[in-house]
Amino acid sequence: MLAHRTSLFASSGTAAARALAKAASDTGNEIIDLTAGEILCDLAPTIRRGAIDAINRGVNRYTDTLGMAELRESIARKLARDTGQIWKADEVAVTSGAKQALFNAAMVLFDPGDEVIVPAPYWTTFPAQVRIAGATAVHVDTRDGAYKPRIEDLRAAITPATRAIIVNSPNNPTGAVYDRELLAAIAKLAIEAKLWVISDECYGAFVHDAHAHESILSVVPEIRPQTLIVNAFSKSLALTGWRLGYLAGPKDVVNAIKALQSHTTSNPNVIAQHAVLAYLDQGDAAFDARLRAQIALSRQRGLQILSGLKRVPMPAAQGGFYFYLDLSDLLRSSPERSADDVARELLIKAGVAGVSGTAFGDPMGLRLSYGMPVQKLERGLGRLVDCLNSLA
Ligand code: PLP
Repeated sequence: MLAHRTSLFASSGTAAARALAKAASDTGNEIIDLTAGEILCDLAPTIRRGAIDAINRGVNRYTDTLGMAELRESIARKLARDTGQIWKADEVAVTSGAKQALFNAAMVLFDPGDEVIVPAPYWTTFPAQVRIAGATAVHVDTRDGAYKPRIEDLRAAITPATRAIIVNSPNNPTGAVYDRELLAAIAKLAIEAKLWVISDECYGAFVHDAHAHESILSVVPEIRPQTLIVNAFSKSLALTGWRLGYLAGPKDVVNAIKALQSHTTSNPNVIAQHAVLAYLDQGDAAFDARLRAQIALSRQRGLQILSGLKRVPMPAAQGGFYFYLDLSDLLRSSPERSADDVARELLIKAGVAGVSGTAFGDPMGLRLSYGMPVQKLERGLGRLVDCLNSLA
């Protein structure tokens, strides 16, 4: 008999889509897997050197629960550059990826009965963590507003039980980037209603065309006492497997997280901490430029190919590295089909794996990651366009 808690979550929809793609490729067919929330590229040289150096020095011990002091200081300096505000190391918690930072935040901020506003489509882990904390995720549909929440919808979702709103810009899965005006309006609302803002900025390094990433607390500094910034090196350094993220916020929240983390993972992986410290201290401009160029090229080539779609509008792809397709027209013309069916057909008929929007609370969407080498991406999207155009 398992705990009641296990009924509050299932394995993540993106992980399930990845597993299906892997099973299909194990049968010997070439599957182009566009499900992964990560960038396929080499390791940054400073990360490689920082890790090897730590190993050669025989580093093997626990670190401080919230990460090494030098790393927290270095992250505080990065936060100062990113936000234009002063940060101290004791306002920073280093975690095993952004996912642990968000989990910690949910556990120390939410009680059973609390409500948390999560704009939809959403990254699948947000509502799962809210539920694990005993609270309820309240979704605000953003599909009519180019995947950005309308302030009146957010306001209407607030009840006396509302504790927080999750802001994720650039957004996974939609790629939407919130502009200053929207961020300012959300901050104003959160101040009025005394809500926590959890600002997940994991994709802030990837913004396209004229879009810019700004933290909500740079736009409205008064929101800082009720804001947690969550970020990671997973996406910005293509370092998903190394599991290093962080959270920045008021000291009392960081202290509560310290106590919690001391009973869960003790500390983030020490070698990853040394590696990221080397990157932060020395910089790696050549790697950063190469990564941005890879993503920009993949986006540009991908959009060219997707322009051949007949019943699916072009994705805006403002930030991150996802094309998020709106299948509404396509599904309207064949009502017996769901987005899950389309994802399945793509896998079987075209050998292309994407993630159905149902994983993100949207029965009309399909997410395609373009974090892969451009030639393979082109082949996959070419097959996808032919397949979607041929669906009767
Ligand atoms: N936040 C968002 C919006 C994400 O998309 C992801 C990963 O896909 C994470 C957090 C988790 O990042 P990490 O791998 O650093 O735990």
